[in-house]
Amino acid sequence: MTTTPPKYRMKLAVLTSGGDSAGMNAVVRAVVKAGILKGCETWVVREGYEGLVRGNGDEQQKAEKPALSPHQNVRVRDESFVHNLRFGDGELLRDGTSDHPGGRTLKGRYIVRVGWDDVRGWFGVGGTLCGTARSTAFRTPEGRLAAAYNLIKEGIDALVVCGGDGSLTGADVFRAEWPSLVAKLREENKINEEQAKTYGHLKIVGLVGSIDNDMSMTDMTIGAPTALHRICEAIDNIESTAFSHSRAFVVEVMGRHCGWLALLAGVSSGADFIFIPERPPSADSWEEEMCSMIQRHREIGKRKTIVIVAEGAHDKNLNPIRAEQIKDVLSEKLGLDTRVTTLGHTQRGGRPCAFDRIMPTLQGVEAVNALLEATPDTPSYMIGVQENKIIRVPLMEAVKMTHSVSEAIAAKDFDKAMSLRDPEFHESLEGFYATSQVHPEPRLPHSQRMRVAIMHVGAPAGGMNAATRAIVRYCIAQGHKPFAIHNGFVGLLDDSVHQLSWLGVDNWMTRGGSELGTNRKLPDIDLGSVAAKFQQYNFHALIMIGGFEAFSSLEILEAGRKHYPAFNVPIIHLPATISNNVPMTEFSLGSDTSLNALVDACDAIKQSASASRNRVFVVETQGGKCGYLATMGALATGACIVYTPERGINLTMLRDDVKYLKKRYSLDVKGKSEGRIVMRSEESSSVYTTKMITDMFKEEGGKLFDSRSASLGHTLQGGIPSPLDRARAVRLALKCMAFAEQHHNAICRQTARPRTAPPESAAVITIQGSSVKWVPVLEMVEHADIPNRRGKHEAWRDIIGLVEALVARPQILGDG
Ligand code: ATP
Repeated sequence: MTTTPPKYRMKLAVLTSGGDSAGMNAVVRAVVKAGILKGCETWVVREGYEGLVRGNGDEQQKAEKPALSPHQNVRVRDESFVHNLRFGDGELLRDGTSDHPGGRTLKGRYIVRVGWDDVRGWFGVGGTLCGTARSTAFRTPEGRLAAAYNLIKEGIDALVVCGGDGSLTGADVFRAEWPSLVAKLREENKINEEQAKTYGHLKIVGLVGSIDNDMSMTDMTIGAPTALHRICEAIDNIESTAFSHSRAFVVEVMGRHCGWLALLAGVSSGADFIFIPERPPSADSWEEEMCSMIQRHREIGKRKTIVIVAEGAHDKNLNPIRAEQIKDVLSEKLGLDTRVTTLGHTQRGGRPCAFDRIMPTLQGVEAVNALLEATPDTPSYMIGVQENKIIRVPLMEAVKMTHSVSEAIAAKDFDKAMSLRDPEFHESLEGFYATSQVHPEPRLPHSQRMRVAIMHVGAPAGGMNAATRAIVRYCIAQGHKPFAIHNGFVGLLDDSVHQLSWLGVDNWMTRGGSELGTNRKLPDIDLGSVAAKFQQYNFHALIMIGGFEAFSSLEILEAGRKHYPAFNVPIIHLPATISNNVPMTEFSLGSDTSLNALVDACDAIKQSASASRNRVFVVETQGGKCGYLATMGALATGACIVYTPERGINLTMLRDDVKYLKKRYSLDVKGKSEGRIVMRSEESSSVYTTKMITDMFKEEGGKLFDSRSASLGHTLQGGIPSPLDRARAVRLALKCMAFAEQHHNAICRQTARPRTAPPESAAVITIQGSSVKWVPVLEMVEHADIPNRRGKHEAWRDIIGLVEALVARPQILGDG
């Protein structure tokens, strides 16, 4: 047999395997695009490992595919290429003619060459357009031998596998066996000596595509956030019925060995009780444990009850706990009118949420980098996520650790199972207990109890209410008194202060906006009076949830400690703003909700833009002087140009942009032009406004393209907060409370009078890379660009380069 001489740095294939999940298409798109940009030839394996085992059939070797240069790859609309492969921009896969093995249009070809435009727009589509399968053949040595042969035959030397723990186990087995497979193929004379040498080492990298979030060493698997969206949407809808009829609902969600979906759904929806495999109820009778908790909730006055059960839930003796059983118990023991809802496959489907477009894209790019850097001595990696950061971990270790969780559960060693889950899992479980449990007695002695003030500052953002609810519930459990300050500092001066109750915040998880009311006024409107109010209400801690105004307020209050002893208490800022402009944190509550609102709007806009074919939509986003929303939104929607306040806009840029759009539209196949999105952050320029740019594109586009604008405005504050914002709100809120308690106790222990609060007790909770860090406000100030109300070093700024790369801007403009 012959293979194409390796003209490329690498011949790279990507496959999706196991259960489908949202975000898999984003992975394939990113791998293909990043691969081409780095000079690789890119291939897709259809139907997962099954496609690898079946290959292309020997007769296909004769029809050698044309070798395209990287540049041609970008301009992949080479008709013969598209015709040969019949694998054009996803449509053939979407129209149902080729979405199964042996599909007509691909005529049994499973390993197909793909180019740039073949994956355009893929990431807005759920499931996997390449197809996936559970392959029995690949589990056998013969199957894997065939797979190795097919890869070598096509000259492919690197493989990206996106799938669940089974798929990555398969990848690990394949990697370990590879040298022996090559030796066997040589022995059987199926490959020649040169091929045996050239393909002696298989570069392989795994990406975790699974809705269960069951892989160790990564915080989040691809597709899990979208599944969580689907679950929370369903529960949010169920809740109104539950409330109206005072009913109980038992909701069964996916998760055979992993309770992440049930746990996060429990936290995000404010459920009453959850059953997860890793932490079965500790009592001998789960029935009694559940009933006593729900009984207490009902006694307080709750009208609705939501119990979430993972499909793999069991008691501590591993006896399965099923939704129907729970229903019977609730009906019989508590007399509740109870219904069961099994969400089933609705959880898998639908459009990927923003997170499942952004993270898989970044992970796909990282996968290509890992393959390019791989040597026979480096381990095969799995690409994962820790907090906001993309990480590489040894595939073998991750697979091993994942299996240890199931083994620990099977051995009833639940503490070990929990210890093998990531910190986010632990914190979420603590968050669930803290916000759902009602304790007969407060946990802290009187001397340690605080009067905690909670305030929303600045503009509303998704997750503010969820954070407040978590603080209130935690406070009540501990014995603290939580006080709402309505309408910010103005409200404090007006005595708009009320103690919050456990039941009063019950529905706040799902509420958008701000239940407390926000205000942009800073405490320096009358610092002395603010201090007097602090004293009057005898606050022992203040938690401000908000954006840049909250940060500025924190700075003012800390500075005010010199003159006003009332401020010598822990003062905390929990960032919450859709602009995500608080310095030193990569994430603020509300920004995920906002990105999802943006993605929803842009999907609709793109549909309109594509229906009218060659239309460019200039979409204006909020964000003030911070371009986070526009930039991440551009990455999440595949926008081709992004304007931010950080970079500004000038004539040279606009000239280049027009040139780019003209070239890009002229490269489109006739009659197949698509709508394109240009993202413009509202304060990018006071001269080159959205209207001006839209008019200019219209004028310059001539017959090639038309232009329209859409201003997303306040819709970006989102309606119902996203599940990730809600869950993060709970985690961060509890950390804020732990911080407040720690500093309150330290201040109380001081023997010298008057007691003073150290500067570090006025701090902001931040997410930096893969960790959560407390930053004292004085340190924050050094990193703040105060006039522009943003950080000096924003981690996301580099993303603009990636946004441009993924639309081949440098190649098309000839400057890259
Ligand atoms: P999900 O999380 O959705 O179940 P998964 O990747 O875990 O996805 P599996 O069915 O377990 O789904 O695995 C997918 C495929 O990976 C299998 O059909 C099989 O081809 C391959 N595979 C799994 N385990 C192994 C193994 N031990 N050896 C070889 N191949 C394997």
